[in-house]
Amino acid sequence: MAKRTRIIEGTWNCTSCDAKKILARHKRCPSCKNPRELTGKESEFDFGEVDHASGKFLREGVTDEKALDLAGAGADWFCSFCEASNRGDGKQCTHCGAERDSDAKEAHADPDEDEDEKPSEKAPAPRRFSRKTMFLLVGALFSCCFGSCLFSQWARATHEEDAEVARSTWRQVIIRERFTPITQEDWQGNLRLTAAVMPVNGAGEVPGVADIRACTRKQRSTRRVADGTERVCSSRTRRVACGTEEKCSRRSKGNGFSEEVCHDVTKYCSESYQDCRDETRYRTEPVMDISCTYDTHEWQQVERTEATGSTEEPRWPAVAQGPLERLRREGTYGITLRYAQGKKEYELTPKTETEYLQWRKAPGARVTVTNMGKALSAVPR
Ligand SMILES: [Zn+2]
Ligand SMILES: [Zn+2]
Repeated sequence: MAKRTRIIEGTWNCTSCDAKKILARHKRCPSCKNPRELTGKESEFDFGEVDHASGKFLREGVTDEKALDLAGAGADWFCSFCEASNRGDGKQCTHCGAERDSDAKEAHADPDEDEDEKPSEKAPAPRRFSRKTMFLLVGALFSCCFGSCLFSQWARATHEEDAEVARSTWRQVIIRERFTPITQEDWQGNLRLTAAVMPVNGAGEVPGVADIRACTRKQRSTRRVADGTERVCSSRTRRVACGTEEKCSRRSKGNGFSEEVCHDVTKYCSESYQDCRDETRYRTEPVMDISCTYDTHEWQQVERTEATGSTEEPRWPAVAQGPLERLRREGTYGITLRYAQGKKEYELTPKTETEYLQWRKAPGARVTVTNMGKALSAVPR
């Protein structure tokens, strides 16, 4: 990569006579002969516009031998007696003749003058809230949290209360079922001829499989099968090298001249392309099987007899069991407790008749109640 170096000459403005755009090679104002000094921004140079993309000066480079010699003389120094600027390699002030001494100020040559490419110093992030607001917010949040914690703890705490049985109900049902011959259908592979066994006293039965017949082909399910491939494309972008571009860096020499170094660097462009792949294509096809009719047995409900009551002892309705029959029992029970001096009720559903009778026979009950008044559980007393 070729490196190109140029020297660019800045200009300054005289504060003694208002002469503008004086070339840096003049250490004295050509109009009023006053020397350039450090005061009044006289020694701040203007180098003109810079191309934003490349960082290159728009101004022409210096070719003049004398000016190039000045540029190479190092950073200026300012006389400690008369404040005039002098070339960096001079030992005596050209204005008043004084020796350069340790009090002489030196113009500093910036290590890198790429001002407009330097990220501007990060401004401190603005504080969203003042410290006081923050304090109040945190305080409010804390006391709110703490308060609701205390409250929920109080609300969850429980105590025990006396209760009495206010109401009770029971329902006892007998379902009479008969082992009945039926005709069913199933896939041939599931069927195996089995002799039926009739129940004795409602138990020991086998449904059986008999007279497998009328077998026909039917669709049982579907399946996905590969059916060739298809080309699937999508648009994507990628970075590709597309020639070169010029990039320049600049360095102030501290004497009104700036050194510019330019390189040709690879330029990247974004290019769109088609990304294509072969993907398997699928189709669905039916899966066939053989379905047959056969004879078997199942329990079918013949009759449902129900008895209900509240204060009386639960009883099962009287139902006679015929041959090939069985009786199934279903009992549901309810107990309502009254607590909080009779103001609140708590519903219980005992699982069995025994449990129900335990509640019925107890003189009272104890309920566990939250401070919010909700009953959680109860035991007979
Ligand atoms: Zn002047
Ligand atoms: Zn001097």
